[in-house]
Amino acid sequence: KAKERGRNTYEFYTPQLTEEAFLRVKMEAEIRMAIEREEFTVYFQPQIDLNTGLVTGAEVLARWLHSERGIVPPVEFIALAEQNGQIIELGEVILRLACRQWRCWSDNGYVLPFIAVNFSARQFEDPRLIERVKAIFAAEAFPAERLEIEITEGHLMKKVEQTSAMLEELKSLGCTVAIDDFGTGYSSLSSLKKLPVNRLKIDRSFVQDLPRDEDDRVIARAIVALSHSLRLDVVAEGIETGDQLLILKEEGCLIGQGYLFCPPLPAATFEKLLLEEGKLETQSLKGSPVSL
Ligand code: C2E
Ligand code: MG
Ligand code: MG
Ligand code: MG
Repeated sequence: KAKERGRNTYEFYTPQLTEEAFLRVKMEAEIRMAIEREEFTVYFQPQIDLNTGLVTGAEVLARWLHSERGIVPPVEFIALAEQNGQIIELGEVILRLACRQWRCWSDNGYVLPFIAVNFSARQFEDPRLIERVKAIFAAEAFPAERLEIEITEGHLMKKVEQTSAMLEELKSLGCTVAIDDFGTGYSSLSSLKKLPVNRLKIDRSFVQDLPRDEDDRVIARAIVALSHSLRLDVVAEGIETGDQLLILKEEGCLIGQGYLFCPPLPAATFEKLLLEEGKLETQSLKGSPVSL
């Protein structure tokens, strides 16, 4: 790298850089141990039918139950795991946990219409991804059509050809695909038309400043219109207030997710919510909620 900057420059390895590198290596080792010790777990956040208030499915969100630091959120380990490739193994752990929990609920009579699991671009660089996913489905007796794969718009566009070929394969197994954080990346309309995608998730950044920010409302409206014309489902993420909900409903959004309804919950708490309130929409599959 120093060379690229010209002949007469030097790159100094400052103590700060060394410390950074040290912390990275330390974290890598910690993640490795955490996988072995099964310290990772999955939380579930419901996706709500905005008209009926029923749970249509749930997004799966990774958490690290650290012996000293407590519950560590994904911002603190996913990016590093993506950089060093650990996300391939971690992604497998998360998918397995999610499928196992779905199966457990299902055996107890709670058939969650779908679980949405986040996948990183890096996982699609693994030629064995499909094989790994299939093996997990088989081991956990999980029906593929209950899995929605979430991939961020930015990740998807990074390696659009390779990734969409694999998504195509996953779709042929029965999985569905959602583009996460939609509106923040740079998908062209023509690539969007060709991609094997079922739904768009309106990024939280377009929701959080509603109703104050009129531009965001226009963006939300445009994404809903786009999804309708491409015959995709649309979900709004990060709904925190009643005002936001009202506007998104006015703009034609049918499904939403956010603290207004429910934060991500550990499986046992999520289950209680389903049991106590009878909120589960058991008949529907992904985005086609039962009309009442
Ligand atoms: P994401 O997939 O866009 O997930 C939504 C994030 O928004 C979650 O943060 C969720 O807790 C949060 N959220 C939900 N409702 C609200 C709300 O009303 N207000 C606000 N302010 N936030 C809300 P979380 O769990 O910290 O995850 C952050 C990101 O980490 C995720 O964004 C996703 O990109 C990544 N991530 C999480 N779990 C996994 C995983 O298993 N694999 C991969 N590859 N990435 C993951
Ligand atoms: Mg997501
Ligand atoms: Mg998102
Ligand atoms: Mg704004």
